[in-house]
Amino acid sequence: MTPFTYARAQDAGDALQLGSRPGAKYLGGGTNLVDLMRETIERPVALVDVTNLSCDIEERADGSLLIGAATRNTALASHRAVRTRYPLLARAVTAGASAQIRNMATVGGNILQRTRCAYFYDEDGSRCNKRNPGQGCDAAEGINRYHAILGASPSCVATHPSDMCVALAALGAVVHLRNARGERTVPFTDFHRLPEDHPEIETLLEPGELITAVALPALPFAARSTYRKVRDRSSYAFALVSVAAALELDGDTVKDVRIALGGVAHRPWRAWKAEAVLKGRPATAETFRAAAEAELADAKPLHDNGFKVELATRTIAAVLAELKEMKA
Ligand code: SF4
Repeated sequence: MTPFTYARAQDAGDALQLGSRPGAKYLGGGTNLVDLMRETIERPVALVDVTNLSCDIEERADGSLLIGAATRNTALASHRAVRTRYPLLARAVTAGASAQIRNMATVGGNILQRTRCAYFYDEDGSRCNKRNPGQGCDAAEGINRYHAILGASPSCVATHPSDMCVALAALGAVVHLRNARGERTVPFTDFHRLPEDHPEIETLLEPGELITAVALPALPFAARSTYRKVRDRSSYAFALVSVAAALELDGDTVKDVRIALGGVAHRPWRAWKAEAVLKGRPATAETFRAAAEAELADAKPLHDNGFKVELATRTIAAVLAELKEMKA
């Protein structure tokens, strides 16, 4: 491990000052960053511990929820308002990692966790554009069962590993950021980038910029929502495919819907095309299947993961069918 300094920020202003040092990194629960430091893939010269920042979950007058970036994953998933008003988010968080890791991991850190592509971690033996820009991508022709089928590029076919982020994408969350110039907000679906020619740039964060909170909009029909994660074993495994969805019905017609996918792209994948097919249509198995097929129409599977196209299609349709029968 490369030597580094450690300091605990007392508030956001303190964090920004400490984080302005070139080579500094913000530290949440450390459940991914510390692993990457042990592997010398990440080599920060300074760690700025931001776990003293807000861990409040504020229920605002307009019905939205403001979640402090230092909120632990366990606290988020067990919060009454999250469980009752946004059950897809509570289910997504508890589908991730292990109880011990969720006790440590923060919301801000979860958003910024990096891909689990095995070639990315194999610093001595594999080429990786995300780790060493311009080096090449050994996953493209290697073992790529877990890799992307949507939005990938020749430079990188990695997937984003978070479950929580899939639910946040479906809900239309907003990321609150703070930098030396002030504060700004970014729609969650814009926050993570597709790889294009620069897979090493994963988010819209500027150097030294800090995630301070995530806002969930008021979305009453999200009470009828869920998260389904398909994986090789039933716990402590990353998604092959996951679906976060919320459904609003007007009789037997789809009035509104939110869908996002995990395990299929470099970022949590909002299923805009499927949503467009569904709105105003009968809530039938045929419509659900047609919507899922529309979303996957542009999929470009790799040699090991062609199964993900049908898996994602069926999982979307199955989740929508489950929601149709669910009591809100
Ligand atoms: Fe690196 Fe991305 Fe290729 Fe994996 S898929 S080896 S992370 S460039």
